[in-house]
Amino acid sequence: MKAIAVYPGKPDSVHLADVPEPRVSDIADGRGVLATILQVGVDATDREINAAEYGAAPQGDDYLVIGHESFGRVEAVGANVSELLPGDYVVFMVRRPGNSVYDRIGYQDMTTDDTYFERGINLRHGYLTERVVDSADYAIRVPPGLRNVGVLLEPTSVAEKAIRQAYEIQRRLGVWRPRKAVVLGAGPLGLLATMILRVRGLEVVTFALAPRPNHNADLAETTGARYVCAQDRKLEDVAAELGNIDLIVEATGFSPLVFDAMEQLGRNGVLVLTGIAGGDRKADMVHADHILQSMVLGNKVVVGSVNAARTDFEQGVQDFAMAEALWPGWLSSLLTHPVHGLDRYKEMMRLLTEAKDAIKIYVDVNGAGG
Ligand code: BGC
Ligand code: ZN
Repeated sequence: MKAIAVYPGKPDSVHLADVPEPRVSDIADGRGVLATILQVGVDATDREINAAEYGAAPQGDDYLVIGHESFGRVEAVGANVSELLPGDYVVFMVRRPGNSVYDRIGYQDMTTDDTYFERGINLRHGYLTERVVDSADYAIRVPPGLRNVGVLLEPTSVAEKAIRQAYEIQRRLGVWRPRKAVVLGAGPLGLLATMILRVRGLEVVTFALAPRPNHNADLAETTGARYVCAQDRKLEDVAAELGNIDLIVEATGFSPLVFDAMEQLGRNGVLVLTGIAGGDRKADMVHADHILQSMVLGNKVVVGSVNAARTDFEQGVQDFAMAEALWPGWLSSLLTHPVHGLDRYKEMMRLLTEAKDAIKIYVDVNGAGG
């Protein structure tokens, strides 16, 4: 069957591969879930893997099937799977356990191992193919009423984890009733974080580079957030207007902004970092003394967050239901750029580099089901 693959380490090696068919029996203990892939979202990670910036093939193979944002329909399950039935819609998680104590309790997103296993990214084949098999332990059921947005669940899980980290950490305060949040960035992650925080009723400013009018700004504002363009206003102005910022979610990967965010975060606030900068940029004009003083006197926290646990995928499904009830059609309007079929892998990569107005590019492998 067909798959979109790269030769890790070799730049621009994206190609259509012919890979073996998976079987339910490939998974031990009767826990296999065989699914037809319907849609797969792509992001900067896929572009960077094709640029050979990272990514590794599974042991014994010289290619890596890419794609980590899955959405599929169950075809068959093993004898010990009771939580899924053929016909159910599913999203598979990305990371697989290694050996650290965190991996052993199902928190592989918190691994301390040097090597991590991620389907479509590192040492495990991904989902840009026709059929996949995996253990039910890593399959999340999506209700049929949400099937048109299931492909957004993986990026949503990353935003869910980031926000959950904030709530977990803030238990230090005995009581935490966050009211004001700033989301840095209005790409898919920034918009999804904005949605989650608006579902929870926070006052949100989404702070991003593009001047309005633009689609992303409109989408942020549909949820009741305020969009502020970083070319007009500084984060400092936002903080002055908004008042004590309880939570900042960084989703741009523009590293110098992190220091501004540390300084502008409110008392007892938490700053969660999710953006990744692959370069080696150095920040000058960092107000080091100001930052140190305000972090200490304000009891502030900065935390990094990668990947997601099972609970974050499940929370994502709940928030999808809320978002659909609050702002019908909002989620599906993030799905701006479909690519029809695995054969069009070149167009997929081209859109990833060129489509500046894209929110979510995804491959319609077999439609959204129906
Ligand atoms: C994925 C995450 C993954 C991270 C690091 C992101 O693009 O969405 O699941 O953990 O890359 O590889
Ligand atoms: Zn991703």
